[in-house]
Amino acid sequence: MALKHLLKTHIGTDVRLAMILLFAVITVVGVTPFAVARVFNGEWLAAGLDLVLILVMIGNAAFAWRTGNSALAGKINAVVVSLSCALLGGVLGPAGLFWAYTVILANYMLAPRLMATVCGVLIIVSGLVVAPFASTLAMAAFAVSAALVMLYAFIFASLTDVQRKMLEGLATRDALTGVANRRCMEVELAEALKGHHARGESATLAVLDLDHFKQVNDDYGHDAGDRVLMAFTERVQACIRKRDRLYRLGGEEFVLLLPDTDHSGARAALEKVRDAVQSQPLAEGLRVTTSIGAATLEAEDDWPRWLARADSALYRAKDAGRDRVSFEDGPSRPGERRLRLVSGRPRH
Ligand code: GH3
Ligand code: MG
Ligand code: MG
Repeated sequence: MALKHLLKTHIGTDVRLAMILLFAVITVVGVTPFAVARVFNGEWLAAGLDLVLILVMIGNAAFAWRTGNSALAGKINAVVVSLSCALLGGVLGPAGLFWAYTVILANYMLAPRLMATVCGVLIIVSGLVVAPFASTLAMAAFAVSAALVMLYAFIFASLTDVQRKMLEGLATRDALTGVANRRCMEVELAEALKGHHARGESATLAVLDLDHFKQVNDDYGHDAGDRVLMAFTERVQACIRKRDRLYRLGGEEFVLLLPDTDHSGARAALEKVRDAVQSQPLAEGLRVTTSIGAATLEAEDDWPRWLARADSALYRAKDAGRDRVSFEDGPSRPGERRLRLVSGRPRH
């Protein structure tokens, strides 16, 4: 049960770690018979190289498992295995170079592309220099075939990278406005909170809600409403700092994280946002206002509590007449507010 949980939390969330472990197992299973055979043949140097490789792969896999730093372990793996492979050509002759293809390919799965390419070039060049080829043609065949494997692996790794970034974008961005979505907000707020609590820095969280937005849809149509939402996010982003983060919570509600910003700084920044939204039409000649609820970070806040306090302040801003910024300053009752967030805010 415990192993199943570990496999799920470790390997299920980190593909590189899974590959490092897999390669370690393959190395142990695949290389050990060769090491034993070489000992029987008296090829001590090659057997020693095999043994070092097996030990490094096991050690590296254990390091990656324990620390979770699969990025570093992947780089170590690529460099060590590439060096062994480069030496193997000299020790075993052209037969040792058969491994070059596997290693060149695996490097692109474990290390950054530039590093994998440098390792690949090292393997090919050292193979050409140290391995005694039977003919110039054999040498050229090795150079061209290994370079092609490297090129294909490079292209494949580049495509995978582009697709990964696209998927990341789909998973973390709101499709309509392009700002970060709620899922992304939950991850980033938890991260930001850890940092701010650790450094004892102030920070402010705000919930922004467009006023009477249903009316916009009813009067001008859903498409016009969509364009207003897009223009709204552009307007807000134009008047916040680079490190401030805007998220779409859902519908016409957004969350704004203002790092390193205390109560007075946040009030000035949020008034600027509120004013920028209402000062000129957003789209279709439509003027829209926004109500903003804000809460400066308290020592006992986790992100749901912090968000609930900001949401509670938004409720007050709506109650007080909309198109205004309200802060949540009083003592908090998190249970009550969390409930309100989940069940929805009363409408007026
Ligand atoms: P309040 O001032 O109290 O916030 O009033 P409101 O009309 O803005 O609030 P309400 O919650 O009654 O209505 C929100 C509206 O936002 C209803 C819904 O149709 C609209 N909405 C939510 N998501 C979208 C969207 O993606 N596009 C468009 N066009 N409208 C949306
Ligand atoms: Mg609204
Ligand atoms: Mg709303």
